[in-house]
Amino acid sequence: MRSSGSAHSCRHFRSTNWRAAQLFVSALIFCLSATLLFSDDRTVLRPGFDFFSPQEDIALGERAATEVPKQFPLLNDKRVDDYLQALGMKLVAHAPFYKYPYLYRCVNTEVLNAFALPGGFVYVNRAIIEQADSEGQLAAVMAHETSHVALRHGTNQASKAYGAQIGMGLIGALLGGNAGASIIAQIFGRVGVPLMFLRMSREDETQADVLGTQILHDAGYDPQAMADFFQKIEKLAPQKSAEFLSDHPNPEHRIDRIEEEIDRLGGAPPRALHDSPEFERIKRYVKSLPPAPKGPSAQHGAPELPAMEYKAYSSPSGQADAFSLVYPSNWNPVAQEQGVLLAPQGGAVAGEKSSGLAWGVIVSVFSPQAANNTNADLQQAADQLIEQLEKSNSAMKVTERSDSETLGGNGAVSVHLENDSPAGGQESDWLVATLRPGGKLFYVLCVSPQKDNDAYGSAFRAIVHSVKFTD
Ligand SMILES: [Zn+2]
Repeated sequence: MRSSGSAHSCRHFRSTNWRAAQLFVSALIFCLSATLLFSDDRTVLRPGFDFFSPQEDIALGERAATEVPKQFPLLNDKRVDDYLQALGMKLVAHAPFYKYPYLYRCVNTEVLNAFALPGGFVYVNRAIIEQADSEGQLAAVMAHETSHVALRHGTNQASKAYGAQIGMGLIGALLGGNAGASIIAQIFGRVGVPLMFLRMSREDETQADVLGTQILHDAGYDPQAMADFFQKIEKLAPQKSAEFLSDHPNPEHRIDRIEEEIDRLGGAPPRALHDSPEFERIKRYVKSLPPAPKGPSAQHGAPELPAMEYKAYSSPSGQADAFSLVYPSNWNPVAQEQGVLLAPQGGAVAGEKSSGLAWGVIVSVFSPQAANNTNADLQQAADQLIEQLEKSNSAMKVTERSDSETLGGNGAVSVHLENDSPAGGQESDWLVATLRPGGKLFYVLCVSPQKDNDAYGSAFRAIVHSVKFTD
């Protein structure tokens, strides 16, 4: 083939030249348009590592979203939700990475907050609409939440905290059809899956501020609205618990970082949007509605006390570390990948400060890190479990510890802990744990507010002392 082709080569050479010129021109046009699009020095962000797929983000978010109305008073006003959705879509058009099916809804509470679940479920509290001075300020909060979704902070946190194994266990539990009130405890719960999707690190918050500022800018709003509104809610925070600010002990720094990003973006876009007549109408309308119920937890009183009658529970066949136990007949068992969650109706709450299981029992299995190929002993394994619990419960403290307990006929450690209750006030936790063949730690964790210790003590003891290993 080589010999036959000098003329060919020549034509080819010319056409290559022509192609090169075309490529050069299109590259030039691309560069020009890229310069036009990003004639700025914006911070480049991307999602962190994640054991979940974006489709799993959506499945997890959908499942969690079905529980939101049980824990948060949704406003359910079509006019308001339609407006939020339309505004959200303007922002989403400029949100990078995976294109989630974003859904924006209004929560009927005076708490200054908003939150997002994986997969695109964004909730904006009514107080945000009422306190925003312009559409740009409301859009700023929504852009911040949208950024948590786009950057996949919920499942990234879960991946970091629990690793692949528990990630898979969670998705299995969620997709396996464990509907019911206590699923909220699996998702928003503490211990097994603590506050997984609502708990963001400080770094996540900064990222959401930075990407949110970019989205706000790209959607045509003056990004200064982001700094202005966070400054405003900082001032309002003492009166109106601003959960929004809880992860930002240094609000000055937060505003500085937003201002820096605005500079990097080259300031406001041309003909920047600030407000809209539609926002002002919606704000007036929301203010005219009957006042929001007081506090999200006010409508969730303490659950019924544990019944004196007990029911038997056996772990599903096929589960490793098979066990049986008894639980109060007015509680609901929710089988987990390993273990079971036992709680009364309303045992999991979404509180002002935190969300999670406030009344109930978690039975689970923990795999300690083994050193030098030898299994951790009971004390070491228990220490590791407590350390993991402390990571997600910063107020948690060990108050008492003994190794004179038994669980399923084996020697066990018994640890009493103190914590902040998601229902408000102090919480008492009682952890009983024993080693299983293979080196895993099987544990029962009993949770109630301190004031209910007496009312729950006998139920907790009955559950712990009824545990039998059946494999
Ligand atoms: Zn945030």
